Amino acid sequence: MPYDASHRADPSAQQLTDTLRHVRAAYARQPAPTARERIDRLDRLHNAVLDYKDRLVAAVEADFGSRPAAETLLMELLPVLQGIAHNRKHVRGWMRPSRRETPLMLAPSTSKVHFQPLGVIGIVVPWNFPLLLSLSPLVSAFTAGNRAMIKTSEYAPQTGAMLQEMLASAFSDEEVVVFTGGVEVATEFTKLPFDHLVFTGSTQVGRVVMRAAAENLTPVTLELGGKSPAIVHPSFPIEEAAARIALGKGLNAGQVCIAPDYLLLPRDQVDAFAEAYEAAVRKHYPTLARNGDYTAIITERQHDRLQGLLSDAAAKGAEVIGINPGNESLEGTCKVPMTLLKQVSDDMQVMQEEIFGPILPLVPYDEFDDAIAYVNARPRPLALYYFDWDRARGEHVLAHTHSGGVAFNDVLSQGVVDDMPFGGVGPSGMGHYHGKEGFLSFSKAKPVIRKGRLDAIAFIAAPWGNRLYKAFMAFQFARFRKKR
Ligand code: NAD
Repeated sequence: MPYDASHRADPSAQQLTDTLRHVRAAYARQPAPTARERIDRLDRLHNAVLDYKDRLVAAVEADFGSRPAAETLLMELLPVLQGIAHNRKHVRGWMRPSRRETPLMLAPSTSKVHFQPLGVIGIVVPWNFPLLLSLSPLVSAFTAGNRAMIKTSEYAPQTGAMLQEMLASAFSDEEVVVFTGGVEVATEFTKLPFDHLVFTGSTQVGRVVMRAAAENLTPVTLELGGKSPAIVHPSFPIEEAAARIALGKGLNAGQVCIAPDYLLLPRDQVDAFAEAYEAAVRKHYPTLARNGDYTAIITERQHDRLQGLLSDAAAKGAEVIGINPGNESLEGTCKVPMTLLKQVSDDMQVMQEEIFGPILPLVPYDEFDDAIAYVNARPRPLALYYFDWDRARGEHVLAHTHSGGVAFNDVLSQGVVDDMPFGGVGPSGMGHYHGKEGFLSFSKAKPVIRKGRLDAIAFIAAPWGNRLYKAFMAFQFARFRKKR
C-alpha cells in the first residue's frame, strides 16, 4: 500500500504502520547524519519555533481556556530554545567515538565506542506542557541523528494541530510526523515497533505503554508522575520557603509533573507557613476569575477530579483553605484556587493520588528523621525539594532518599537545566533525556574493536600449554593477586 501523507488526525492503525515504514525507509537511506545535518535540523526547529511563537502561545491558551503567555514562553518555548542551543553546541563532541582501554590479550588493537542513531523514535505527549514535552524529546532525537513520530494529547487539540502545521512547515514527512487523536490512536501508536519510544504521562498509562512496547522489545523512556515531596527543615525561614513554594506551585496552576505535591514541615510552623503562603499567593494572583495570569484547569474532567479530591479530604476531616482573594465565583471558569490542606490523613485520596493541580497538603512532622521516613515509605517520586541552608544535612537527605531529581531551596528548577538529565526512578519513570543523557538515550553505544596487522593472540593459542601461553598467563595472573 502506498504511503498516504494526508492522515494526521485520527489515523488508523494501518496509516500509522505505513508512516513508520515510510520514515524508517528514509532513515535507512541516510542512516548516519553528519553533525552538520543534525545541526541543520536543530536550526530549522529553532527557526520554526520563533516563526510560530505567537501562534503556539495562542493555541496553548485556547486549549487551557486561560494560560498566560508568560508561562508558555518561560516554561515551554524558552526551554526548547535553550535545549536546542545546548545540543547544537555539544553535538560534535558527543558524536565523537570514545576511546576505551583494550585488555592486553587483544593487543595490538584499539577499542572505541561509536554512537549510532537508533532510527525512528516514537514520542507520546501529555497535555500539561504540550509544546515542551513534544519538542524537547524531539531535540534529543534529532541531536542523536534520528527521525521521529509524535502523538500529541487529545486534551490539547489546538496545540496539536499547530504543532503539526509548524513541524510540517520546517520538516519533510520523512523527518518528523505529528499525529493527533485520542486513546485509540495512542494505543495503536504505542504498539508500533519503533526503535525507541518516549512516553510522558501518568504512571498508570506508563504501565500499559511499557506492556505494548514489550511485545516488540522496543526500548522505552518513561517520563511519569507521582507525588513529589517538599521538606522544610526547622532552621529554614518559613516565610521564604512559603514564597518560593507558592511561586512554583502557582505556575500552570500546579499542573506540572515536578510540582511539589505535598509539604512536610515542622508541626509548630504549619500556621506560619499557611499565613505566608496565602500572602504570597495573594500577591501573585490578586484575582482569579478573569485574571489571565492564573492558568485554568485544562478540562472539566480534570477540574471535577480536583474538586473530588477536595470534597473527599473535607469529608474525612481536612481543613481546606482555598485562596480566593476577591471571594469571586469561579463558576464556569474551570479554575481552582490555590488551596492548602491542613489535618490531612493517609486515608484521603489527596494523600494517595498524584494531585496535579493547585492543591498543597501540609504534613507536619515532629522529628526530622520522621520526614525522611515518610518519603521513603512511599513510591520513589519524580522530584524532591529540600529547604535548608546547611549543606551537610542536604547531603544526608540526598543519600537517604531516592527521586528523579532534587532542588535545594527551590522547586521545579532542576527541570530546566539542559546540561543535566531529566527522568524519574522506578514508578516515576525510567531513562533520561535533555542534554548529553538525551543524546545517549537515543543512540546505540556500539563497542567497536579494531585489530592490528599482528595477531598476537595466535602465538599463545592451542595447543594450550605452549611456553608463550604459560609466560603470558603467569604475567597476567601475577596482576590479579587476592586483595588483602
Ligand atoms: P496520560 O497518561 O493520561 O496521557 C498521556 C498520553 O498517553 C496522551 O497522549 C494519551 O493520548 C496517551 N494515552 C492515554 N491512554 C493510553 C493508552 N492506553 N495507551 C497508550 N497511550 C495512551 O497523562 P496526562 O493526563 O496527559 O498527563 C498527566 C500525567 O503526566 C501526570 O501523571 C504527570 O505527572 C505526567 N507527566 C509527567 C512528566 C514527566 O516529564 N515525567 C511531564 C508531564 C506530565
